[in-house]
Amino acid sequence: MKLELNIQPLNTWINIKNEPLIISGPCSAETEDQLLSTAHLLKATGKVSVLRAGIWKPRTRPGEFEGIGSIGLEWLKRAKAETGLPTAVEVANAKHVEEALAAGVDILWIGARSTVNPFTVQEIADALKGVDIPVLVKNPVNPDLQLWIGALERINKAGITKLGAIHRGFSSYEKSAFRNEPMWELAIQLKTLCPELPIINDPSHICGNRELIPYISQKALDLDMQGLMIESHLDPSVAWTDAKQQVTPAALAEMVSKFTLRQPES
Ligand code: PEP
Ligand code: MN
Repeated sequence: MKLELNIQPLNTWINIKNEPLIISGPCSAETEDQLLSTAHLLKATGKVSVLRAGIWKPRTRPGEFEGIGSIGLEWLKRAKAETGLPTAVEVANAKHVEEALAAGVDILWIGARSTVNPFTVQEIADALKGVDIPVLVKNPVNPDLQLWIGALERINKAGITKLGAIHRGFSSYEKSAFRNEPMWELAIQLKTLCPELPIINDPSHICGNRELIPYISQKALDLDMQGLMIESHLDPSVAWTDAKQQVTPAALAEMVSKFTLRQPES
């Protein structure tokens, strides 16, 4: 099987201050204060290149916090103005894309629950035609490499060449230490099919708890993944979503300082 994508190298479209690329920020933007305080603390670590925040949250069941919505875009704008950090949000439909673009968001990502649906991915791709913005595509919830590839192809065919994949693990009925099974082989296969495609690991959604995050992150780096998306919150214990897996900016900085990077072969 062939996978031909027209991709620009990651370091040409994200200013990576330190290797690897670290994207961090809260699972959900909750209040302006929470987002701005977290952003300032992350900036102060010197380890983070991109601020993430979910403002439209795809919840598995109704009745939970479904994201703060469009007002969060204003908070992100302010966070960027105050810290200089580029911003990233999840988009799940054409309206999200339009609003995020209008608000000056720097990077869009497609969530695992959207990647499973080719209609949704195509709707997002159509909204991106003629737009030059980086897009990261999370793997689908289920371990289906073809769905992941199909989503990347749809976005690439829309003209997006600043394209990357996010490996966030796969849902399983089996009980395990992980919230989502890493199934590293799918990410490895994707890399083998398209070596120029940047792959970023999301240890937060793989682990589901903060204790395991350093191990999964290190393993991803050992596999030559180019970055990590790690959820952070100024007080994870009171986070409105994914409380168990978020880390404080201080814990993030400490973790990142301990990672070891493979030396390029000479
Ligand atoms: C998230 O990044 O907060 C999120 C909802 O992730 P996923 O799509 O991987 O479940
Ligand atoms: Mn989350």
